[in-house]
Amino acid sequence: MPNYIGFSADQKLRMETAADWAKGCLDAALSVVFEDNDLFRGRLGKYITALGSGQKWGDISSLVMKTICSMKIVIDSDLYKVQLEPQANSPNTNAAMCSWKQDMTAQGRMLGTMQFDGKRMNVLEAQMGFVAKSGASKLSVYPLFFKLPFYALETQCQVQSFLHELSHCAAGTVDYTDGGINPYGMTGVRACMRRGKSAQNAENISMFLATFA
Ligand SMILES: [Zn+2]
Repeated sequence: MPNYIGFSADQKLRMETAADWAKGCLDAALSVVFEDNDLFRGRLGKYITALGSGQKWGDISSLVMKTICSMKIVIDSDLYKVQLEPQANSPNTNAAMCSWKQDMTAQGRMLGTMQFDGKRMNVLEAQMGFVAKSGASKLSVYPLFFKLPFYALETQCQVQSFLHELSHCAAGTVDYTDGGINPYGMTGVRACMRRGKSAQNAENISMFLATFA
């Protein structure tokens, strides 16, 4: 279990339950990946698509599979801590994960490897190296988080928000805002699909995974 800092007993229980559901989503998604890849790709296609000349569906779906595997390893090995903080500057922010070297990890996800500490390695190895040197990555939770529904499909909820933040930490996903788009909610999911950025955007990954609850 990761370290939970600053929560009341009731809030801690709710966070642990959200983390448990997030784990369940990852386990269920992984079992479909390995048991019925066509089914997995069919479900994926509602949230994440290949678009444009540079993208192939096989590359996109394997990137998502790598993302899910990285999230599974990070959540199982507690490579993060969870801390309740005063409401963020933005009144709409419910949670945030420190985006360590996020620009590099985004590049690393597309290339498969990244430069860390002068060596080339995959994103997960770099994340473990980062934790070894700097301590567990922090998932900040704001009071607004507890106002979200616990679980709902295609809506921001506690389970999906947890998955969203975990994907930043584990796999270098981003909140894609180029061109002034709002990357959040199903509006953001659809906007990122139209722009060919759905496999990078944390909201697309988390809305997809939440369907496995
Ligand atoms: Zn985010």
